[in-house]
Amino acid sequence: MSDNRKIIIAIDGHSSCGKSTFAKAIAARLGYIFIDTGAMYRAVTLYALEHGAIRSGIVDEEAVVALLDQIAITFRFNPERGASDIYVNGELVEGRIRTIEVSNCVSRVSAIPAVRRKLVAMQQEMGRRRGVVMDGRDIGTVVFPDAELKIFMTADPAVRARRRYDELCAKGQHVTLDEIERNVRERDRADSGRAISPLRRADDALVLDNSRMTVEEQMAWFMDLLQLKMKN
Ligand code: C5P
Repeated sequence: MSDNRKIIIAIDGHSSCGKSTFAKAIAARLGYIFIDTGAMYRAVTLYALEHGAIRSGIVDEEAVVALLDQIAITFRFNPERGASDIYVNGELVEGRIRTIEVSNCVSRVSAIPAVRRKLVAMQQEMGRRRGVVMDGRDIGTVVFPDAELKIFMTADPAVRARRRYDELCAKGQHVTLDEIERNVRERDRADSGRAISPLRRADDALVLDNSRMTVEEQMAWFMDLLQLKMKN
């Protein structure tokens, strides 16, 4: 695809349904940049946890907002992962943002309007030249409502919890399947019910339910879709 035909691919959907894996594979196939916006909300949450703005699971919204100016988020491509690692104030935080502690607080942090304003502005800047695959909750509705291709991903919550559980266990984290399933369902509820930029399918997004699909099958579905899109 020549440069002047580069588009924005927006991938939104429920928690833990493999949006990032799918988005990363698409970006690799097309030579696009992959941006995991969930990592940005997680990075702010981690910083808030480490700087006393979240104590015993209680998010102090004003304290989080007061920290925002101190948080500089950057990405650097990591060829080993085939994706960009996330840094906060120059410190690599990729390995620390996916713990259950961060997962349990992130939906409350991401519902704070000032947090969203800051991160959405960064995301829009990163996609300004197009040629990006961005995954999150509000990419097709708020960040890039003009994205040329929008996909809304979902899967059975039990299947999602099992996948996330296996992933965390493989990383050596001590979690139970039950606690992961509770977190997945709770984040769906919080992300869909918040007042600002709630998770919802954009009217022009195509639904992909991958409960019973492999990554290869999802890619085949996507390549057919892309071909069709490019013809029109
Ligand atoms: O994608 P991931 O599950 O890592 O996202 C973590 C959390 O960040 C979500 O549960 C949601 O609260 C928030 N998020 C968001 N908007 C986005 C991406 C993520 O509110 N675009």
